[in-house]
Order: sequence, then structure tokens, then C-alpha cells
Amino acid sequence: MGRVRVLLVAAEAFPLVKVGGLGDVVGALPKALKPLGVEATVLIPWHRGLEARRVGEVAFPFEGREEVAPLGERVEGGVRFLLLSLPDFAHGGVYGVEDGRRYVRFALAASRLEGFHLLHAHDWHAALLPLLTPTPVVYTIHNLAHQGLLAPEDFFRWTGLPKSLFHMEALEFYGRVNLMKGGIVFAQRVTTVSPSYAEEIQTPAFGEGLDGVLRKHAHKLRGILNGLDTEVWNPAQDPHLPAPYSPEDPRGKEEAKARLRALTGLKPPILAAISRLDRQKGLDLVLEALPRLLELGFSLYVQGVGEEALERALQEAMEAHPGRVHFHGAYDEARAHLAYAGADAFLMPSRFEPCGLGQMIAQRYGTPPVVRAVGGLKDTVEDGVTGVQFTLPHPEGLLYGVLRLFRLGPEALGLRGMAKDFSWEGPARAYLQVYREALG
Ligand code: ADP
Repeated sequence: MGRVRVLLVAAEAFPLVKVGGLGDVVGALPKALKPLGVEATVLIPWHRGLEARRVGEVAFPFEGREEVAPLGERVEGGVRFLLLSLPDFAHGGVYGVEDGRRYVRFALAASRLEGFHLLHAHDWHAALLPLLTPTPVVYTIHNLAHQGLLAPEDFFRWTGLPKSLFHMEALEFYGRVNLMKGGIVFAQRVTTVSPSYAEEIQTPAFGEGLDGVLRKHAHKLRGILNGLDTEVWNPAQDPHLPAPYSPEDPRGKEEAKARLRALTGLKPPILAAISRLDRQKGLDLVLEALPRLLELGFSLYVQGVGEEALERALQEAMEAHPGRVHFHGAYDEARAHLAYAGADAFLMPSRFEPCGLGQMIAQRYGTPPVVRAVGGLKDTVEDGVTGVQFTLPHPEGLLYGVLRLFRLGPEALGLRGMAKDFSWEGPARAYLQVYREALG
């Protein structure tokens, strides 16, 4: 096959606009595909405030009328980004304002771009593409929890698609249109972000109501792990650390530990969690285990923003246990780098985890993670080798994991974790394989 031209379609893409892991993947994958002979372009909405050069326009039908969307272009780090200008994206953020309508409009316009052999659609925002274009589509699920549910009257009025699609084997989902379901049913191939999560979402416990659909289409479902941007996450050249270190010469890690202790006043050993404060991430389990962890001599560092009740509880824990609990309630890139490097162990007790980046970053920084044995955590942490897995979604499970890690010796596990390959190279080859399958 000659050079394959792929258009990645998503709501966000690093470095232009990033809300979460989706943005990281969409920004990083094109760079990793290039050496494999794939020319990947990224298409996102022209979100408010983004700078780009206007290069043309796209005509598309919406609500029975022909509309025209200006098209912008920007090249960053060798990757070509296209931006579609639609009125509904001129205000509000990436998510949150009448998302159903504006992302359906985005997908309708996106389907009119020409010159690509393959489309790679990400999450529900782009899930409609296989229904709109004859070009083969690979559809990637980053978060099954957000599915894009719409009233059928709205959906069929906006798109003009035939109402015959409103049945159980197509778009219908308990009386509403489910865009995620459409992506799964109609794409040539479906991927999600870890092999274990690909299995789990076919069960009622993790399937968010779509497990039956996923079982039915399991023959075209693949799990491909996310990679890390190993330039951003590299302890050997990290401007946020007091000294560089590497698996060959790990001495600089001691300086990071000393810096984190000085900054927080925490007494070692320090257990760290850096995470959105969301039920998914299981930080409530950490709080429940806290009294025992403190008795056993551990200190706790938590960095994150999110649910108010959790923020409050963490703030109170810090006030009640100075020198033993530190809560940094902010999104702080620099501090995250230091905490990954300066902690003695990393906690990630997620209830579910499609892939997860924190546990990979921690290993790369020589900080062994204690993780719940789910999804991408199960696939990226070698139990008893580079970290510890526990099964029970309960404070006792977490405690058991921490104790086991410290019996095994966190330094030895940390060193082995640092030597692991978390780059995009392997994942990019796996995507190429799926692209080839989709192209037939
Ligand atoms: P998710 O995408 O579900 O939030 P991931 O583990 O895949 O979880 O990715 C989370 C990323 O966001 C990690 O790189 C983590 O370091 C980062 N992160 C989360 N909270 C913060 C914070 N408060 N400050 C800095 N980085 C954070």
C-alpha cells in the first residue's frame, strides 16, 4: 500500500485544545503514524479563541438547508490540523453548550471533506460519520459513559437521514437516538483504549447499556493501549525536576523526593494520587483507608480538581493531619511532574479505567503504582514486577495493595517500571493494522 491518507475527527486535539486523554491521543497518534507511511490529518471544530489560517470552506446540508463552514488550517509539530468554523462553537467551551446539535452539525460538515482513504472517528462527537460517507471509518471509544443521546425528532430533522434507522439494530436506544451506538454498529472497525477494557465493555457491569451491541459486533472490536508522550514525560530531561535521572542513573530521584517533602512538609513514605476528583477514580476509597494508612506510617499527597464533596473532605483531612496529608486542589502541570517523581508510590484505585495515563507516567518516573485490576490499569502495570494490582473495590483492597508493595520493596519495582516502553510506537503499529483491516 502507498501512503495512506487518514482524517482523524474529534472534539479536541493537543496542542490546540485539550480537556482530557482524548486530546492527548488525537494529538500524538498522527506523529507516531508518520514513520509508518500514514499521513494523518486532524479535524476539530474551530473552538473559540483558536488561531488558524483560513484555507477554504465546506458546504453541507443541515436542517434541510445548505450551509457553508469556513475551514481553517494550522500545522503544529509537523501535524496538519483542520478547523471547521460553525456558529455554535463561537461561544462556550469544548463541551457543555447544546452539544448534541452542534456536534451533529460538525459531523455533517466533516463528512464532506475529500481526499482521504479512511476516516478515524473519535467518541460520540464523530460517531455519525459511518452513516454519512462511503469512506471506510474506524471508530474509537475513549469513554463509553458519554454516548450522545438525542431526541429522534431533532436528530432526523437536523440530518435528513431516513427514519428507518430508528430501530434496535441501528440508532434506537430506549426511545432515543444513541450516536455512540451508531458508531459501533456502522463503522468498519471499532477500537477502544486497552485490551482489557475492550473485554470489560462487553459485560453488563462495564457496558453502560451497550454491552449487548458490543458483544454482537465483537468481531470488529479491538483494544489498543494509549501511549505516552515520552518527550513531555521524561525524567532524564524534565525541566520541572530538581535533577535529571534515568534507569541507568536513578540518583536524581532522591532530590525530587526531598523537594516534594520540603514543599509539602510531608513525612515519608509518601503515597500520591494525581487525578480528576470523580467517582470513577476511587479517591473516596483512599479517604476511607486514610486512618489505617496514617496508623501504618504513610503520608498522603493528593492533587486534583472535581467533585466538591471530595475536595472538601480532602481539605479537611489536610487540616486534621498536618505533615501527613497534603491536598493540592488545582490543575498544576509543573507540580504534577514533581509529585510523580517525588512520591514513594502512586495510587490509582479506579472503579473503571479505559486506559489511564497516571499509572504509566508514575512507572516512567520510577514510582510504582498501586492500582485496581481493571481496564488499562490491568494491562499496563505488571503485578508484583513494576507495581501492584488489587481486585476488591474497597478500602481493604487498597490497603492490602499498599502493604504488599512495601513488602516487595518499592525501589526495586520502581526501577523496573522506569525501563518499560510506554511510547506510541507499538500502539501506532496496531492502529495501522486496524486501518488496513478497515480498508479491506
Ligand atoms: P482521565 O483522562 O480519565 O482524567 P488519565 O489517567 O487517562 O485520566 O489522564 C489524566 C491526566 O491528567 C494525567 O496526565 C494526569 O497527570 C493529569 N492530571 C489530572 N489531574 C491533574 C491535576 N490536578 N494537575 C495536573 N495534572 C493532572
